Amino acid sequence: MDTTHLIQGIHHVTATVSNAQADYDFYTQLLGLRLVKKTVNFDNNKVYHFYYGTAEGAPGTIMTTFPYAGQGIRVGIPGTGQVSRTGFSAPSASLLFWKERLTAAGVSAQLVDRFGRVHLQFKDPSGLGLEIIGTNDDPRSPWRREDISLEMALRGIFNVSVAVKELVPTLDFLTTEFGFQLNEQSGNISRFQAKDGGAGQYIDVMEEPDGVRGKNGMGIVHHVAWRLDSEAELAALRERLVHDLGFKVTEIKDRKYFQSIYFRIPGGVLFEVATIPPGFGVDEEETTLGQHLQLPTWEEENRAQIEANLEQLDW
Ligand code: ZN
Repeated sequence: MDTTHLIQGIHHVTATVSNAQADYDFYTQLLGLRLVKKTVNFDNNKVYHFYYGTAEGAPGTIMTTFPYAGQGIRVGIPGTGQVSRTGFSAPSASLLFWKERLTAAGVSAQLVDRFGRVHLQFKDPSGLGLEIIGTNDDPRSPWRREDISLEMALRGIFNVSVAVKELVPTLDFLTTEFGFQLNEQSGNISRFQAKDGGAGQYIDVMEEPDGVRGKNGMGIVHHVAWRLDSEAELAALRERLVHDLGFKVTEIKDRKYFQSIYFRIPGGVLFEVATIPPGFGVDEEETTLGQHLQLPTWEEENRAQIEANLEQLDW
């Protein structure tokens, strides 16, 4: 199988964050995203895993967080080899609404122009870099909240921005192995697109030769996940990475809502590649997504203990 054109765009972005309540309140009440899944870290059941997105939690709309406050995890150091900023899309006419809404909540936000679009940049309570990018051709349906009109609401993820010391190794990987195209360049920033481009299909690579190597921890994006169609495609891509390119790649992991692999690309950013099926409807109806704590089958027998260990939140 030719593996060089399998990636369709972003699947999700996952960050290590600090306080669970502050995180939940910020993404649901302030940004107006839907909590589409409430589960635990499959590798550490004392820590929640929140998935925020839009109505059905379509791939490409999902921001996920692990709130690690109180678990002895250090605060991370931003730098190269990391996702520096995650962008959401919303209609251009909404950006002043968002600036006022964020400012009223005590979140400082700055408007900047890049590639002919307005970007509203701000930080979440853990210090993650976020932006809302004016996009008038994003067909995805937003999640509805009473205090955010549909014309203003976020449509999903637009892009991620990654920082690297040297552009070329990352550029070579993205264009050769993922089939991405260089869309635009401005200063030290190169925007690449998956497939035909559009919201949810962009990665901005920022070349920072003097940047310090970032360290993972609270307030840092852990990885960006890219989507493809099937486990057969995932297995073929894994074969290519391991046997032809000599990459260190995890086994295929069953994340319940998708299967996935993880590996670092040249330049140091941790990528995940995840299957679109089965999706977030595998264990809950769409109408009640995110309302009940979901556990992987192997943790169900420990449910009482797990629930007792988790911080109780005001949902
Ligand atoms: Zn992930």
